[in-house]
Amino acid sequence: MRRKISIFGATGSIGQSTLDLIGRAPEDYDVVALTGGGNVAQLAADALKFGADVAVIADEACLPELRAALAGSQTEATAGQAALLEAATRPADWVMSAIVGAAGLEPGLKALEQGATLALANKESLVTAGKLLMETAAKHGARVLPVDSEHSAVFQALVGEDMGAVERVIITASGGAFRDWPLERLAGASVDEASSHPNWDMGQRITIDSASMFNKALELIETREYFGIDPEKIEVLVHPQSIVHALVGFQDGGLMAHVGPPDMRHAIGYALHYPTREKLPVERLDLAHIGQLEFSNPDPKRYPALRLAYEVMGRGGLSGAVFNAAKDMALDRFMARQIGFTQMADVVKATLDQLLPDDGLIDAPMTLDNLRRAAHLGQSTAQSVTPR
Ligand code: NAD
Ligand code: MG
Repeated sequence: MRRKISIFGATGSIGQSTLDLIGRAPEDYDVVALTGGGNVAQLAADALKFGADVAVIADEACLPELRAALAGSQTEATAGQAALLEAATRPADWVMSAIVGAAGLEPGLKALEQGATLALANKESLVTAGKLLMETAAKHGARVLPVDSEHSAVFQALVGEDMGAVERVIITASGGAFRDWPLERLAGASVDEASSHPNWDMGQRITIDSASMFNKALELIETREYFGIDPEKIEVLVHPQSIVHALVGFQDGGLMAHVGPPDMRHAIGYALHYPTREKLPVERLDLAHIGQLEFSNPDPKRYPALRLAYEVMGRGGLSGAVFNAAKDMALDRFMARQIGFTQMADVVKATLDQLLPDDGLIDAPMTLDNLRRAAHLGQSTAQSVTPR
């Protein structure tokens, strides 16, 4: 049976990998909505190729260009935040959430409200509002499937297992661009240097977040939200080869590791075909050729972001929204060359120190309004603090 699918953030790295899989069996899918931030040419080309019902460009200034590119086709062209949310209400069986940042939250919620299976790459929405997303899914009988390599790995290792027997969850980290740099050089690392990843080909923001391990910090929180695991049972292990994505440790001492190539089409494809496993066009690993796998504990001095994630998990409430917003602002400031690489963690820490004790803010009910308020404060505080 043909399935109706929509892809939010279709023009990005995850979105394009998703379309690559869809394009290999177009007869299996009806594409409802494709969305992009500002890349009209890519969005229009894909909308035409896949015969999408609607193409949404987030940047409203791009609407005339999108309309022109889609003129004479069956695809409707729309733009802006309201159009994005409208597209998310169009009935779909499977929705890919691959917008980057907290902007992915509301379309994801709308998709869940109409009962769609949400393949969630947008980890920021889970960090910001995990409880709200999961409650919305439960309320509408919808499902959230992880599309992050580590969380897909944990999910796969848990199939058929009793959560009560889980002792710990270990997510791996490549160590990012600066794993082997002398610590004293980190402060001077440039945006270009932080934007190249040793193993994965991803969007620029998540690549820089990998170098600082803010990405892993988000993923610690993501692990807690997906699987309901206590923070003290979640660990990060540095694994430079990036082929063991996660391990689940059980109370009988057994560890189930998920091993696969560093190619997001595996996690995307698993979520696309769940609960069956279909043939996927990813590399088959030659372990004898790889020869050795290395593991080590992350150095807290090199990766201060990890400790901040545990602080946020301990605090709970709306602290994830503050953390994600502060992290995004620190990243913006680094990318604008206003602060140095190591100062991103200083900025986020100073923001948390200032805002987490505010119980009126952090312990407010998790509504969209309160989330916006918390994110706004996280953002404005991170914008104004002077890093050490
Ligand atoms: P990307 O930057 O390549 O793509 C982001 C997409 O979101 C693009 O389509 C962009 O146009 C759109 N977008 C950006 N800002 C928007 C806004 N304000 N409103 C609407 N649309 C907007 O990013 P990516 O690497 O594909 O990552 C997407 C998500 O998946 C992120 O949450 C990231 O953390 C997560 N993720 C990515 C990878 C990866 O390998 N790339 C792995 C795991 C998780
Ligand atoms: Mg990941």
